Amino acid sequence: MSVPVVPVAICPTGTKKPNEINGVPVVPLVPVKKHTTRMKIQVIPAPNPNSLKRCWPWQTYPAPLPDVQKLAHHEAGHIVMFEWLGFSESNATITPTGGLAYFGTNPGRATVGPLDESSEITAMAASLFHGGVIAELIFAGGVWTGPLFYPWASDYQRANDMLRADFGNHSSAGHAFAQRTALNILSERWPRVHEIAKHLVRHGVWPASTL
Ligand SMILES: [Zn+2]
Repeated sequence: MSVPVVPVAICPTGTKKPNEINGVPVVPLVPVKKHTTRMKIQVIPAPNPNSLKRCWPWQTYPAPLPDVQKLAHHEAGHIVMFEWLGFSESNATITPTGGLAYFGTNPGRATVGPLDESSEITAMAASLFHGGVIAELIFAGGVWTGPLFYPWASDYQRANDMLRADFGNHSSAGHAFAQRTALNILSERWPRVHEIAKHLVRHGVWPASTL
């Protein structure tokens, strides 16, 4: 199975370009109102592999208005999914109007070896792309009742590209499994998501070593 590794999380980028990191515009952000730093997040269990074939009613997910806190948690969600998958050299930037999370500096593809007859690995890997929107959902205190449908976003499109071969186009089963995996990982690691988001809001970039 071939898994696209970078860049994974392209969101609308900002319009101001006073600085660039790897071609990504960076705008220092003004302090925002104090956010509740200790949100109590209930850990959501991982999906059961038996659900890989089930059908779900879709939840529509509208394009959000630019919101720095939401953007920061979105990109932090991708970074934590990267960490979960074992990629430590991940980066993120945010601006007042957009964000980007990516792995390393050179776009490319990696090959994953194990056989995936049940397609479980594929569905789990697609959680990387859905991690941003799932972090937004958790941040907003939203409830996941079915796969979030947001085909206007590159995150959704990349997840769909990955899932299509095994599950079919716009498969509610594949997207649901990927999103529920992200829900499990991010709810369990929410303090880390929040830590990265807080840093992004303050400095515009992650990790601190890129400052
Ligand atoms: Zn994203």
